[in-house]
Amino acid sequence: MSDYYPTMTTERAYDVIIVGGGPAGLTAGLYSARAGLSTLLIEKGVIGGQVANAELVENYPGFPDGISGWDLGQLMHRQSIKYGLKTHNAEVKGIEVKERLKLVKTTEGEFLAKAVILAGGSELAKLGVAGEERLIGRGVSYCATCDGPLFRDKVVCVVGGGDAAVTEALFLSRFVSKVFVIHRRSELRASKILQERAFAEPKIEFIWNTVVQAIAGDDEVSGVELLNVKTGERSTLKVSGVFIYIGLRPNTNYLKGIVPLDDGGLIVTNGRMETGVPGIFAAGDIRRDSARQAITAAGDGATAALSAERFIRGQE
Ligand code: NAP
Repeated sequence: MSDYYPTMTTERAYDVIIVGGGPAGLTAGLYSARAGLSTLLIEKGVIGGQVANAELVENYPGFPDGISGWDLGQLMHRQSIKYGLKTHNAEVKGIEVKERLKLVKTTEGEFLAKAVILAGGSELAKLGVAGEERLIGRGVSYCATCDGPLFRDKVVCVVGGGDAAVTEALFLSRFVSKVFVIHRRSELRASKILQERAFAEPKIEFIWNTVVQAIAGDDEVSGVELLNVKTGERSTLKVSGVFIYIGLRPNTNYLKGIVPLDDGGLIVTNGRMETGVPGIFAAGDIRRDSARQAITAAGDGATAALSAERFIRGQE
């Protein structure tokens, strides 16, 4: 150990540092800590990652009645800390490769590790239209589970046509009087089972071939300005809430020039979750070829931790 970390105290030096506390990072933490490696997980937000916002996860094996995303994250965390995983709340700002070690720079100081697993996932994409930023928390939301109950008996819209948009529209239909789903094409990207449920829900109405050009409102959202991309027709739809689910953007800005990224900013890995930089691995939504499911992220995390262990043992 001392050869590896000449200048760091043990609280700042680990075998493995994991960046991100979603299913990928937590599973990597479980495998790494359970393998006897000193392991630190650094998370800037809440433990659980994106899935912690999901009201109900129905496709994580082992939970035949489903489980809330929040509970899933908490259970994973409990299981990993039982084997000695340490967690630290900070944002990682950069990583420097220092011969055999990696220096992880965070808002709360620097840490050293023999191996790093990048599992920072992704963030919900922004529409980038007028009114969006200004009205966040005043009708614009990216979390139906958190904010849905505030819109009881009101009319809201969801923007997007993927699994997230449809899942959250179904969730919102429990509270609101009406949900418009605004999608830029005439066909959903969401899985068939979700589509069928949404088409059968009388409170959900689809607005096809349409994009949101602006979100209107002074102190609170009052409506959305729409453009039909097929006919060119413009219209205004009165809504109190706008829930935006138009996909994910990887959290990799700080990794440019450190590990290979694809054009979309996703980390390129092989099947062993190796990034091409010895000792740096990636797992979950942050990597290219991820299926972007909680269960595949967890699988990636396990693979990355096994690879990190093999890498460290090989160095010793
Ligand atoms: P997604 O699958 O990438 O879908 C994004 C949707 O937003 C697409 O319908 C896309 O339209 C639309 N879109 C993208 N950019 C847009 C823009 N600028 N303006 C208007 N619409 C835009 O993203 P997601 O639904 O967030 O899901 C992400 C991943 O998580 C997926 O792999 C999904 O399967 C997974 N997920 C799974 C579940 C579940 O299993 N229950 C729940 C949530 C998420 P186009 O279709 O025209 O491209």
